Amino acid sequence: MTDQPLDARALEELQAAALANLWVPTQSWSDLAESGVPIMAEGDGVKVRDVDGRWGYDGSAGLMLINIGHGRTEVIDAIATQLGKLHYASTFRYATEPVVRFAEKVASLTPGDLNHVYFTSGGSEAVETALKIAFQYHANRGERGRTKFIARQDAYHGVSRGALSVSTASYVSRETYEPILSADVRFAPQPAYHRREDSSESLADFTVRCATAIDDIIRAEGPETVAAVIAEPVSYSAGVAVPGDAYWGMVREICDRHGVLLIADEVITGWGRTGRWFGMEHWGVVPDLMTMAKGMTSGYFPVGACVATERVFDAFKGGRDAAFHHGFTYGGHPAGGAAGLANAAIIEREGLVENAARMGRRMLERLRGLSDHPSVGDVRGLGLMCAVDLVADQATKEPFSSIDGAVKGLASKLADLGLFTRVRDQIFLTPPLTVSEADVDAMVDIVDEGLTLVERELGLG
Ligand code: PLP
Repeated sequence: MTDQPLDARALEELQAAALANLWVPTQSWSDLAESGVPIMAEGDGVKVRDVDGRWGYDGSAGLMLINIGHGRTEVIDAIATQLGKLHYASTFRYATEPVVRFAEKVASLTPGDLNHVYFTSGGSEAVETALKIAFQYHANRGERGRTKFIARQDAYHGVSRGALSVSTASYVSRETYEPILSADVRFAPQPAYHRREDSSESLADFTVRCATAIDDIIRAEGPETVAAVIAEPVSYSAGVAVPGDAYWGMVREICDRHGVLLIADEVITGWGRTGRWFGMEHWGVVPDLMTMAKGMTSGYFPVGACVATERVFDAFKGGRDAAFHHGFTYGGHPAGGAAGLANAAIIEREGLVENAARMGRRMLERLRGLSDHPSVGDVRGLGLMCAVDLVADQATKEPFSSIDGAVKGLASKLADLGLFTRVRDQIFLTPPLTVSEADVDAMVDIVDEGLTLVERELGLG
């Protein structure tokens, strides 16, 4: 914790430059014009500081990705060393040693025979890659009619056109882009029990219904027209929807029965976040394709990947016609390989996957203790991926966001108290996997205090 915060004049000048020249993703102009662009200055372990000088827990681990924490010199040094030695070689033509070794590492960590690693620069590119591999897998085997994809309601798979075509999360404004999205996507229900319409339905029945809906869609469309099902093992965008136990086994069986590939999007859930290396391991299910990004390098270098099983890769063995003609200039960047190897070494040496499982259990238990708050609804989580539902009214379950300024007010209150995290109709807590018991307790105490203050201001309860 070194730098001095900027003085008022420097801060004002930085704000003016941000508003004049930086197109800030996802934020509305009216919010930015009113409150300014939030600017972060430095990080240390599980904490970050903004330019106003507030230090606080990085409750979101950036964007659910800083798994090993901030300021890990081991990773920074590995990147710098690689940049000094060979900073780039055509990724279409040449491999480099760190990239080969990282592919080997990824293959050793992923379940089953997910052995073939196609590197990208992030999650959306990984999803684009998976969708194209799935289509071409069938085409190479003579089934060019398999052009459709099945995704799930409230899913988020990225912002590029293919990835957005399989996404419906409320925050992607799908309706704006609908005319330029693929029409060959069908949506199955999300196994988000907390959002079920019939409150008397049991978890077991709900789970079977959600999985069976995929079977129904495939039959209705004709299995010979469906390429793949794409889904997150636990959907963050659906409010951290942990499916019932039977779900993934059923989906795997349905896909197999119809010759449809299963793509598990592990961009958030991969690399230890849920207390296993990969989310699907909770249910012992091996997908045909797995997408990942974020925690692969903990954000120290932009890296993503799509990993394929032997069976999928086999369909691409052959001459030019069978090859996958697809590549991103920065997919397989040598510094990304070096970052990934150093990141994996830290996760293994420090037992961070196990820590995520332990700390996640503690966090969930402590968050469940907040249920007396008038604004707290359901609380869910798996590993260090937790969500606290917020409601404006316990009886009607009216969303918290229906109260003008409530979401923004709570987020800024939490930041003032020392917790930077995502707030919508949920408080999301996905901190670095390096958190200690004391960190978990401190974060939950801040949530407790922040809710108390905001509820008092809003006259709730
Ligand atoms: N898939 C999932 C499940 C994600 O959560 C995200 C990003 O949050 C993406 C894909 C897209 O990744 P990126 O933002 O790196 O393109």
